[in-house]
Amino acid sequence: MTHTITLIPGDGTGPELVEATRRVIDATGVKIDWELHDAGIDVVEKYGTPLPEHVLESIRRNRVALKGPITTPIGKGFRSVNVALRHALNLFACVRPCKTYAGVRSRYSDIDLVVIRENSEDLYAGVEFDLGTPEAKSIIGMGGGKIREDSAISIKPISTSGSERIVRYAFEYAVKNGRKKVTAVAKANIMKYTDGLFYRVAREIAAEYKGKIAYDEVLVDAMCMQLVQRPETYDCLVLPNLYGDILSDLCAGLVGGLGVAPGANIGNEVAVFEATHGSAPKYKGLNKVNPTAVLLSGVLMLRHIGETAAADRLEKAVATVIADGKAVTYDMKADRSDPTAVGTSQMADAIIAKL
Ligand code: NAD
Repeated sequence: MTHTITLIPGDGTGPELVEATRRVIDATGVKIDWELHDAGIDVVEKYGTPLPEHVLESIRRNRVALKGPITTPIGKGFRSVNVALRHALNLFACVRPCKTYAGVRSRYSDIDLVVIRENSEDLYAGVEFDLGTPEAKSIIGMGGGKIREDSAISIKPISTSGSERIVRYAFEYAVKNGRKKVTAVAKANIMKYTDGLFYRVAREIAAEYKGKIAYDEVLVDAMCMQLVQRPETYDCLVLPNLYGDILSDLCAGLVGGLGVAPGANIGNEVAVFEATHGSAPKYKGLNKVNPTAVLLSGVLMLRHIGETAAADRLEKAVATVIADGKAVTYDMKADRSDPTAVGTSQMADAIIAKL
């Protein structure tokens, strides 16, 4: 069977990482008809938007996409294409497995955590009012003196339905993937209504899985410390959007850094696979950065489309090359200026040779 999959190279180092990944996935023998579409900063001039409708249409039709990172200008220009894509396609769950592979330089070993981040609401809803706008002034007025006059405002919506959907997804993920525990992470002692709602909903859903999947709650600040001190205590973490974003990077750090942390954005209809890391623009075009995170996102994608045997072979090939420690990129060497480090595409070649 041939799968048709949308391929978005992204920008910065995205195109070289995605090309390396496409080559490796094709080498597994899985038949994929890649539908290539550009999005991001480089297409704005041509289409007037960084996320043209035909890109969304392609993903909706194919139901699966593999995507490179896309740069977001800070404080100006368009909002994040990555966030817009998740909203437009209703990709409500971001799943980021963080697992240690032998040979990866990390302070920890034997970590096997999954971060499940709510993707559609919270401070990422994009409801913001700039300093001095009538809306900001109106909200400042509602604050009863608690908000300074010279404030800009971001709104943090947490809904019952959004919380139910992500927590249920986390429990179902745990059941399907043989996991033992789901930990809900928020800051309900301070944000009693929003994060309080998240915990309340999580408890209700956890009760349905009693006896099958364990459940606990940890406040986000305590969680940061505990993940650093004893990460092996945790299994699946479910979090609202912003905490999920931050803890995903923390967990990526536990298993060797952004270069090895894959991810999937999942909705009811479609799924978009992408690394946790961004476009690392300073390395653009240098054939230097680590393809592992995008490749492991490809492994998640292969599992998602039912190509489990190819996914297992690919993951094993990646793990073998990492464990050998020879044909790996600079960030995987003990000394980052090690001249034996290989480039992005040479690491892909080494993985293909192990398939
Ligand atoms: P980044 O992840 O691009 O890079 C941070 C650092 O991590 C880099 O300097 C590099 O040292 C390291 N790194 C990242 N990927 C690596 C890889 N594959 N191999 C080796 N080292 C790697 O984060 P940033 O600099 O904060 O963001 C750059 C741009 O990417 C921003 O515009 C940001 O908005 C965007 N971004 C996009 C996504 C996405 O597309 N989903 C995610 C995060 C950030």
